[in-house]
Amino acid sequence: MQRIAFIAHDEEKPALIGFVQRHSDALEDCSLVCTGTTGKRIQEATELDVERKQSGPLGGDLQIGAEVADDALDAICFFRDPLTAQPHEPDISALLRICDVHDVPLATNEASAEHLLAGLLDL
Ligand code: PGA
Repeated sequence: MQRIAFIAHDEEKPALIGFVQRHSDALEDCSLVCTGTTGKRIQEATELDVERKQSGPLGGDLQIGAEVADDALDAICFFRDPLTAQPHEPDISALLRICDVHDVPLATNEASAEHLLAGLLDL
């Protein structure tokens, strides 16, 4: 079973929710993990089972990064907001870095997430 992480900055949460809803049938067969608020929004909008970590500013990105370091994650869809400064930018950079260290695919916007999911889940 593929384990996929979903993270979205506030401005991008509506786009991520739409993305997850569109792919909810395929995602039912995956193990899903999210940062806190993103996970809550997905739980409210879908029937999917999601494991929620801390909210991003409280360490959720680092918790997901730790899973990458443990080789426990197959992919990350991280809908980033490039126009708004994030207080936890160092944690975000650390997450991107550990994905590169472990060669874990990370999509940072909706278009790349579509391709990532299509490849990963054979859609
Ligand atoms: P959130 O965190 O899902 O708890 O909002 C995401 C982030 O800011 O990295």
